[in-house]
Amino acid sequence: MKPQPVTIVGAGLTGPLLALILARRGFPVTLYERRPDPRTAGVEAGRSINLALSARGIRPLEHAGVYGEVEPLLIPMRGRLVHERSAEPVLQPYGQRAGEVNYSVGRAALNRVLTEAAARAGAELRFGQRCLGLDPAGDRLRFRDEQSGQVHETASDAVIATDGAGSVLRGALAEAGAAYVRVEPLDHDYKEMTLPGVAGRHALAPDALHIWPRGGFMLIALPNPDGSFTMTLFLAREGPQSFAALAEAPAAERFFAEQFPDLRAHLPRLLADFRRNPEGTLATVHTVGWHLGGRVLLLGDAAHAIVPFHGQGMNAGFEDCAVLDHLLERCDEWQELFSTFERLRRPNTEAIARMALENYLEMRDSVRDPHFLRRRQLAFALEKRFPDRFIPRYSMVMFHPEIPYLEALRRGQCQLEILEELDRRRTPSGEVDLRLAEARVRERLPAIPAD
Ligand code: FAD
Repeated sequence: MKPQPVTIVGAGLTGPLLALILARRGFPVTLYERRPDPRTAGVEAGRSINLALSARGIRPLEHAGVYGEVEPLLIPMRGRLVHERSAEPVLQPYGQRAGEVNYSVGRAALNRVLTEAAARAGAELRFGQRCLGLDPAGDRLRFRDEQSGQVHETASDAVIATDGAGSVLRGALAEAGAAYVRVEPLDHDYKEMTLPGVAGRHALAPDALHIWPRGGFMLIALPNPDGSFTMTLFLAREGPQSFAALAEAPAAERFFAEQFPDLRAHLPRLLADFRRNPEGTLATVHTVGWHLGGRVLLLGDAAHAIVPFHGQGMNAGFEDCAVLDHLLERCDEWQELFSTFERLRRPNTEAIARMALENYLEMRDSVRDPHFLRRRQLAFALEKRFPDRFIPRYSMVMFHPEIPYLEALRRGQCQLEILEELDRRRTPSGEVDLRLAEARVRERLPAIPAD
């Protein structure tokens, strides 16, 4: 496509990356954001402080030429370190091939690096500008200046909405009858706490994502570069074991002491954060109709917000940016670009939405189930034997961006059936029938072409 002016609304994680990609291609880009400039202002409270970045999100960053600046921000995590109530923590490695790690990255630092890169590439950045929606004719964007309160309108050929899970522009598309939106709320909320470092050093092993799986709920912790961990408690909103039941301080104290005995030394700080910090809600947003003709496109969480249990929301948003960039080579005009983007992308984002929900059960419960662990070991063994055909689903999602999410979901289902059959048909001494394994893998799982 020939470079034409583009307006991007929302400078969170995907907005600046997209601005960078388009500006590098010579498109005149204006990026609007309701918050103040992150390069000069503090961090907004209440957002998740750090995130897991995987190979799927790294590839678009490399493609945009910004990975070199992101890399110094990353802390590698080799696997899940599972904390039971009365046992030593056990590491479950994420993968078994070289380099199969995820990275913890601070949201604010990543946002700053991407914003700076977009600005350097020539994007015009306008902070403190809250988008109010489209004008009634649908061809002008309305903004309010957050300092002066003044409302102004701007015309733009093409608008890309990266304004996040609560997208105002998604609402405008729904109102115009272009988008059908279904929000599937989760009945579990989350709350973040900080586990401070001790003299600048991490209080827990820094090279893992820590999980305290407790069946109906879980606590997780991701490392930060300053020696602290960001801990997140995921728990039902209401009911006997819930945030509502922990509203009174003594109940919260009892809960933390009973459930997380290995964190006893840190309880005063955790409880103070627990009292002070906001409780966040989680939901999956299913949207059909990501665009209004060739004028407005939804991208990232604005189109397909998911629950965070696969650590893929940002990664999927970054992948969106790379897919859109590839399509610029194939399409001649915005309408074609936007509709092709939705056609290619939506089945994949629906697939990761489903896998993300399934992963909550895995993280809070299955990781301590002997049957799950036996199957997982068998999956690794099959991957060793058939590396181009059998790849555990978690690895496909996190470490194999060449396998689209939908394909990972489909192959994952076949693999599960194979694993269950092999497990059922073990010999009395527990041996797996390797001939049967080979037959099933070859008949059901075509070889994955090299990237
Ligand atoms: P956002 O990052 O939300 O950015 C939207 C931007 O738009 C914001 O800057 C906002 O201020 C701005 N905006 C909103 N409305 C307006 C308006 N009206 N006018 C102007 N500007 C506006 N993903 C992962 O890949 N790995 C993880 O480990 C992970 N962990 C998570 C943990 C939690 C608790 C949560 C809630 C999410 C997690 N995610 C994770 C998901 C990830 O945060 C999102 O997928 C990602 O931030 C989406 O990027 P985005 O740019 O689409 O939206």
